[in-house]
Amino acid sequence: MSAPVIVLGAGPAGLAAAEAASASGQSVLLIDENSAPGGQIWRGGPQRWRDERASRLWEALRARAHVTMLGGARVVAPAGPRALLLEAADGALTQPWEKVIVCSGARELLLPFPGWTLPGVTGAGGLQALIKGGMPVAGKRVVVAGTGPLLLAVAATVREHGGEVVALVEHRGSGDLARFAAKLALSHHGKLLQSLQLAARLRGVPYLRGASVLAAEGSGRIERVLLRQRGREKAIDCDFLACGFGLTPSLELAALFGCAVEQGRVGVDGAQRTSVQGVWAAGESTGIGGVDKALAEGRIAGLDVVGGAPNASDLRARGTAQAFSALLAQSFAPLPSLRAMCTGSTIVCRCEDVLAADLAPHTGWRSAKLQTRAGMGPCQGRVCGTACTFLYGWEAPGLRQPVFPASAATLALPQTLRVDTVARAHPESPQQQTN
Ligand SMILES: Cc1cc2nc3c(=O)[nH]c(=O)nc-3n(C[C@H](O)[C@H](O)[C@H](O)COP(=O)(O)OP(=O)(O)OC[C@H]3O[C@@H](n4cnc5c(N)ncnc54)[C@H](O)[C@@H]3O)c2cc1C
Repeated sequence: MSAPVIVLGAGPAGLAAAEAASASGQSVLLIDENSAPGGQIWRGGPQRWRDERASRLWEALRARAHVTMLGGARVVAPAGPRALLLEAADGALTQPWEKVIVCSGARELLLPFPGWTLPGVTGAGGLQALIKGGMPVAGKRVVVAGTGPLLLAVAATVREHGGEVVALVEHRGSGDLARFAAKLALSHHGKLLQSLQLAARLRGVPYLRGASVLAAEGSGRIERVLLRQRGREKAIDCDFLACGFGLTPSLELAALFGCAVEQGRVGVDGAQRTSVQGVWAAGESTGIGGVDKALAEGRIAGLDVVGGAPNASDLRARGTAQAFSALLAQSFAPLPSLRAMCTGSTIVCRCEDVLAADLAPHTGWRSAKLQTRAGMGPCQGRVCGTACTFLYGWEAPGLRQPVFPASAATLALPQTLRVDTVARAHPESPQQQTN
């Protein structure tokens, strides 16, 4: 039996890749740090899914005995030349690999402003993930602020769960938004329809365009947010402020394999192959573009890994999704004016409490890190490193192994993972783990 194709990440890209690769009979091992499949957009597991594409992919995988899911296991480092080190709740494991598809998704770009570290202030997608995970927001007043279409999806989730969206604050002005809508009408009808449906679910919510956050205020937790719109300042009382300024590809797993990164995303060719032989990448890690791009790229990677070729409709779907991705980047890249949100007394590195005023004299990440400890806390610069790239134009901090924090026991005592033992954690029971 040939070694399994390993798919890292069970979001839309990973599920599509696993389905395409396993359709040929090839054994596939799907690994995710979450116990349930679905990634960001299909968070919460199969019983909560409303998107038929998710259920179809999962049903196909469940029906194939040669597909195995290992949930609740995070890949943290290499364990030798062609092996991965994984950390799971019940111990550390190593898994040899021959062919891997990296589908590691994206994370939010968090930008600092006064009060952003107060309890009750979260990322926009972060609040959505908390709600999907069961955090109650019924009766709570929520401000959703930042830029980009994710804000609409987050506001709709808040409303659906009984929260009151007291303001939706978009940094881009009406002109930019009208131009984006016109381009959707021209070549992305499905996306336009989705936006209109979201807008209908948000009827009555105050939509402040061309507005930005000045500060979050409160004693002990957020009580109000200060905003500026067209030169006028206003304060809005709230229980939560969810701020999103777009997404940024998660590059840790690609870094673990040594894959080339181009313009902040994993570089791939037309078959989704990375610069490293035996490693493919798909989904948000190769550029932010949403679920359709993740599905199309995942499918193409999954076919290529088993020597198959995509058909014309796969390539068309990817082309359309990548064009949408470029439109998103062009329409919602954070504007330089957002830098003004961060004042000298704003905390930039929240792990080590480093202020913007302490960072300003430095000319690059390395000297800032050495002299202020910015980026040396538990998140290892994942949040403040990206913020500093935006604020000061510094090159992103390089990633070191282990690419995610791991316990000393994990680094010292891994056991070798055997796919036949993992078979007990077949997709039928995604919660199950093994060692
Ligand atoms: C916080 C957040 C909220 C979002 N909400 C929406 C939304 O409401 N609507 C929308 O259209 N789009 C949303 N998106 C965009 C969304 O990411 C994409 O549309 C889609 O989910 C991308 O699919 P993907 O498979 O590329 O990545 P993801 O869905 O992010 O899947 C990546 C998977 O990789 C796993 N993973 C990463 N690193 C490791 C590791 N080291 N070890 C093991 N597993 C790992 C993760 O656990 C995750 O399950 C959101 C994105 C974020 C970051």
